[in-house]
Amino acid sequence: MLILEEKLHKTNKNRIAWNKGKTKEEFPQLSNSGAKKGNIPWMAGKHHSQKSRDKMSESHKGQITWMKGKHHTEKANEKNRLAHLGKHFSPQTEFKKGMIPWHRGRKGVYSEQILEAMSNFCKERFKDKRNHPSWKGGITPLEKEIRNSNRYNQWRSDIFKKDNYTCQDCGIRSGNGKAVILNAHHNIKPFAFIFQSNDIKNIEDALNCDEFWDLNNGLTLCEDCHNLTKLGVNTLEKN
Ligand SMILES: [Zn+2]
Repeated sequence: MLILEEKLHKTNKNRIAWNKGKTKEEFPQLSNSGAKKGNIPWMAGKHHSQKSRDKMSESHKGQITWMKGKHHTEKANEKNRLAHLGKHFSPQTEFKKGMIPWHRGRKGVYSEQILEAMSNFCKERFKDKRNHPSWKGGITPLEKEIRNSNRYNQWRSDIFKKDNYTCQDCGIRSGNGKAVILNAHHNIKPFAFIFQSNDIKNIEDALNCDEFWDLNNGLTLCEDCHNLTKLGVNTLEKN
């Protein structure tokens, strides 16, 4: 049986396709083939069986994809970008604001190397934080007022004390002649979220907002780790 199949395969290989070398001008019936607008592709909604998939995979082995080693021209890239701009190809499954990234909190999804590369890329690209998509125009005067208040200073030092002046992400702390800048970070509920959900309009609202000053919502982070949380890279959030 195997030999027969092999034989067939060989004879098929040497066979010349019926339409080879024929043009549409000479043979108008050629233009009747191919996809037409409104036609439903014959495979639509169907799936190949595992067996035929294996077969296809086997027969395509060793083939080199047509784009391999080639690059789109600048012009083609731009054309492609414009063609896809603002289009939503899978509205049901696309990533929407507020969704949790699939890899959040999963360890080992990315190798250390990749994580470092991603982090470096973000650091470099968003050196000027105004380049970052979530840049909302900087700290508001009210936010500044809150951060300058005695209450905020107290809250910060309480957080640092609670965490023993140690970054809760990378474990770094001042000592041995090395000074580490620490930040108190609103961890579970971000600063801006508390701001919004409590409808804080002035400094009195903020001072009276218990949620703001909840020590359980504060976390000590070194400057580097804190910057990463701003970029959404850090996945420290614990619920
Ligand atoms: Zn750190």
